[in-house]
Amino acid sequence: MLDIQKIRKDFPILSREVNGKPLIYFDNAATSQTPQQVIDCIVDYYSRYNANIHRGVHTLSQEATDAYEEARIKIQQHFNAAKPYEIILTSGTTESINLVANGFASLLKKGDEIIVSALEHHSNIVPWQMLCEHVGATMKVIPMFENGQLDMETYVSLLNKNTKLVFCNHVSNALGIINPVKFIIDKAHEVGAAVLIDGAQSSPHIKADVQALDVDFYVASAHKICGPTGVGLLYGKEDWLNKLPPYKGGGEMIDQVTFEKTTFAGLPHKFEAGTPNICGVIAFGVALDYMNDIGFEEIGAYEHELLVHATEKLLAIGDVTIYGTGDKTAVISFNIENIHPYDIGTIIDKLGIAVRTGHHCAQPIMDFYKIPGTVRASFSFYNTKEEIDTFIEAIKRAKKMLS
Ligand SMILES: *Cc1c(COP(=O)(O)O)cnc(C)c1O
Repeated sequence: MLDIQKIRKDFPILSREVNGKPLIYFDNAATSQTPQQVIDCIVDYYSRYNANIHRGVHTLSQEATDAYEEARIKIQQHFNAAKPYEIILTSGTTESINLVANGFASLLKKGDEIIVSALEHHSNIVPWQMLCEHVGATMKVIPMFENGQLDMETYVSLLNKNTKLVFCNHVSNALGIINPVKFIIDKAHEVGAAVLIDGAQSSPHIKADVQALDVDFYVASAHKICGPTGVGLLYGKEDWLNKLPPYKGGGEMIDQVTFEKTTFAGLPHKFEAGTPNICGVIAFGVALDYMNDIGFEEIGAYEHELLVHATEKLLAIGDVTIYGTGDKTAVISFNIENIHPYDIGTIIDKLGIAVRTGHHCAQPIMDFYKIPGTVRASFSFYNTKEEIDTFIEAIKRAKKMLS
């Protein structure tokens, strides 16, 4: 059992007020809040050992380098990568995906095929479209059912010897659906295709084991896992990372430079040009420690309770449609009949409640349901049933005002 009141004390922001009401933060799928332990780490870094890494022989640089590389190992262990250098530190999921898409531009040829799912975030659609246009490859889409689940039968029928890559999110950010990624990976491997799994939305709730999944690439952002913004990771199998060319040129990623020719550094530095977000990476390590100390099983079980509680109460209001059913993380994407999601979001913000409204960077899903958007309430382990009850009262009030 989690001691939620104790956990909440770790998050200073949770005690602030918004519009004269206690903040109820239900926009965790957009970004999570930051515990004091992570805030302290950031203050400590800039107060004591701010320096550039991998370059100086001086003490501060050594300390910063050690802390940065220790964080890489924490991230490696968290995702169970085989080697620390299979973890590439990036500015986030979006950059990680672009790094891979950019690299594949030199590996794909005309006639090759890539497959994406209908549930993707724009950041997992647009880079691949750009790639396909560039190399003359074709993009195919795994369709979804009305309940938000992906159609695995059609997926299998899309696979063939021309399929080179498959991309899918582990959990849909718009609906919270947990996708059958192991099946997707195994089927893709049968035809020799590589698989990238977008773990941005799963990583706050599910501890992924990249070796057990046998996934080729796995990406995530620190800011959704209690860490700071501007940091993320790309896990790649060593063989794949060696095949991909560097993404950005600059300092840190070279071996030898002359004006005639540059040879590149080995992994992971080949992909880490320039000064990285040193403090952010170190703080990401602290965030993972923080969450692992609480325990992902405990987090998952508690958040599931919140999801069940909120779903029941919300449906009881009447005229509510929830999009996406089945195996889900603690996300509820919903609409109330004849009311625009934006109007609901605006009214409940006045009551101190933060939810996301709109298309959630997943317009194809909204097109599928023929809706402009949804209200998305996404819960974290620091939320409570009492907060959900207050939210339900607020939704009732908004419904009365708007209908
Ligand atoms: C948030 C999110 C992204 C984008 O992450 P950034 O941190 O903005 O780069 C991509 N995919 C999914 C599923 C997400 O939830």
